[in-house]
Amino acid sequence: MLSIRDNLEQIRAALPAGVRLIAVSKTKPVGDLQQAYDAGQRLFGENHALEMRDKHAVLPSDIEWHFIGHLQRNKVKYIAPYVSLIHSIDSLLLLQEVDKEAAKHSRVIDCLLQFHIASEETKFGLDMQEADALLQSEVYKSLQHVHIVGVMGMATNTEDTQLIRSEFIRLHDIFTQLKQRYFADDTAFREISMGMSHDYPVAIEAGATLIRVGSAIFGARQYNLN
Ligand SMILES: *Cc1c(COP(=O)(O)O)cnc(C)c1O
Repeated sequence: MLSIRDNLEQIRAALPAGVRLIAVSKTKPVGDLQQAYDAGQRLFGENHALEMRDKHAVLPSDIEWHFIGHLQRNKVKYIAPYVSLIHSIDSLLLLQEVDKEAAKHSRVIDCLLQFHIASEETKFGLDMQEADALLQSEVYKSLQHVHIVGVMGMATNTEDTQLIRSEFIRLHDIFTQLKQRYFADDTAFREISMGMSHDYPVAIEAGATLIRVGSAIFGARQYNLN
């Protein structure tokens, strides 16, 4: 069986410059994260606030913690002191809560707007109209402790590579439109978070800058909290 280190090395060997790998460690024990850390991995992704808090408390402090799952407003406080990027902003209310908690720690928290790009109904995320409304609102413009640095999306869970590719291309188009309309002068607005274990090569072709890979590094999850 291949080790966590072998898996990481294989994935990294195929990563173009400018694409960063997030090791999605949700449900995995800290020992597995430590193995990935020892193999040089510094970006980790989690999708439950309390699980991330507990892992953050015991693992090395130079890890960048990425929150990638649906985030409830009452859980923001558990990640605000240290989270480096929240991938899953899907409402102005959530962004306001992140701003409020970030202010308590004198931080500015980087965030991505999550878009609904899959054909499945169940996935979370904004559409373009909702994103326009958010970015044009006076409330958004008043926030001092959040910084939107890009977009995130999840493709349909399917074997149909053509469909996946078209969804990732759509997310890239959304990124380009937002960049032109709202972030033309902001060089920090440059992240496109897309691609998981089964579809990250397609995401890279479509312009991903951050890929979120779990089972291809750590093996299949025993249970799925989602
Ligand atoms: C679990 C998860 C991933 C990683 O999934 P794998 O198929 O294990 O690579 C990526 N993104 C999000 C939002 C997730 O919840």
